Amino acid sequence: MSKSAVTTEVAKRRTFAIISHPDAGKTTITEKVLLFGNALQKAGTVKGKKSGQHAKSDWMEMEKERGISVTTSVMQFPYAGSLVNLLDTPGHEDFSEDTYRTLTAVDSCLMVIDAAKGVEDRTRKLMEVTRLRDTPIITFMNKLDRDIRDPMELLDEVETELDILCAPITWPIGCGKEFKGVYHIHRDETILYQTGQGHTIQELRVIKGLDNPELDEKVGSDLAAQLRDELELVLGASNEFDHEAFIDGSLTPVFFGTALGNFGVDHMLDGLVSWAPAPQGRETSERKVEASEEKFSGFVFKIQANMDPKHRDRIAFCRIVSGKYEKGMKLHQPRIGKDVRISDALTFLAGDREVLDTAYAGDIIGLHNHGSIQIGDTFTEGEKFRFSGIPNFAPELFKRIRLKDPLKQKQLQKGLIQLSEEGAVQVFRPLINNDLIVGAVGVLQFDVVVARLKAEYNVDALYEHVNVATARWVDCDNERKLDEFRRKADQNLALDGGDNLTYIAPTMVNLSLAQERYPDIVFRTTREH
Ligand code: GDP
Repeated sequence: MSKSAVTTEVAKRRTFAIISHPDAGKTTITEKVLLFGNALQKAGTVKGKKSGQHAKSDWMEMEKERGISVTTSVMQFPYAGSLVNLLDTPGHEDFSEDTYRTLTAVDSCLMVIDAAKGVEDRTRKLMEVTRLRDTPIITFMNKLDRDIRDPMELLDEVETELDILCAPITWPIGCGKEFKGVYHIHRDETILYQTGQGHTIQELRVIKGLDNPELDEKVGSDLAAQLRDELELVLGASNEFDHEAFIDGSLTPVFFGTALGNFGVDHMLDGLVSWAPAPQGRETSERKVEASEEKFSGFVFKIQANMDPKHRDRIAFCRIVSGKYEKGMKLHQPRIGKDVRISDALTFLAGDREVLDTAYAGDIIGLHNHGSIQIGDTFTEGEKFRFSGIPNFAPELFKRIRLKDPLKQKQLQKGLIQLSEEGAVQVFRPLINNDLIVGAVGVLQFDVVVARLKAEYNVDALYEHVNVATARWVDCDNERKLDEFRRKADQNLALDGGDNLTYIAPTMVNLSLAQERYPDIVFRTTREH
């Protein structure tokens, strides 16, 4: 295949994720996006969650309902001549690590805000993460069919709280029961909203121009007058859309609508395909790899157990960074220095997983993992580089895990190490005893681990309190000093699932003292795979 063919395919692709606070409407918007992608017959089948029920095992319920878990993780669909990849980020706070890593695999993000509530906690945190890579952000102000806050005030809040300039692309006409539609600033047209059309693609009803008397007729003269007034103000006071500023992450185009009413989602998608970047290259240990390079490369950002009892395998999600995947090709895995032939990678078109023949940079492929793939692994066509920037975060919660049946120690250890390779949890083995300490970023992870140990490894385990407050990965350029540290501080040292040396501190004070006492040792809160 010629290089230009790879370039053409890559240019078509847009790979993004949705960031939002729980309940802002991420799931609903995903359904509508798929509806537009013609991917599903009828929206509403992405996730069978009952409203308001962010239950403890959203995760497990979802897996059960769908039979296969991976289908909701990546969705590929065509839209307006482009091929869009939407990566799901787990909504629950407890899976934040997974979310962070997923955000390393996208080239842009859609930020969904509940317009009645404004900027919320989790959105703030996720925005911080997107800042690490200056990811371009598109904003969707959702739930216009409810009484929302003053739109000007909302933009103001986004600008000050999230430190990003807002450029409204559409502007709402009324809200709640009075929601009439939006005026599209770039197209100079009003698009009228119809209620009760949430499950279909609505017939487009458009009024050209702002001074068109039809506007007064259709939305009422009061709202029309209000719109004209507001727009004068908005256009004077807010920022114009600037593509460069969008690409460098300093300005976000803003759309208004209602995901539930399926209104405005298409405006956002139009913006996404015309402005969001095509697949971008990534830094590696050796050099920057560009998406248009002919040779395949990619990295694993997520590993997920496939709960389908008939296929008890685990799927490694690999973001293709450059080139093309072809069925049956041989891939090199630099971490273990081995080649593997991949004949059964999965694609995620239309929410169904299927074996695919080709995929290009920007796409996600699912690799069957029988234990040899870890999060952060690089695959190439033979080059030895490794992609950088896929983090592990120091856990903040710790428990000792113990067996009900002591004879199953081996199984327990194997299970925990595999779960830690997936990034489901972290495991620490102290140098001085045989404890197994489970470290998590969120509380829910503990339950998931026990449930999965039982289901997948047939091990009954329970937790006990352990006196650990925090953990840091440690490192030192000087072998001699590291050895000395290992000897003197062995009471507080452990190996994680990948055999990396970790300092586990009973208190934060203990950690500060250790840092003072061993100035040559680097204590890290994140570890790159
Ligand atoms: P997620 O937690 O971000 O995935 O949010 P969901 O998509 O599950 O939505 C949370 C709740 O808000 C659900 O009850 C949705 O039906 C509701 N919802 C989502 N979008 C809208 C909207 O545009 N208008 C209204 N009124 N409700 C919405």
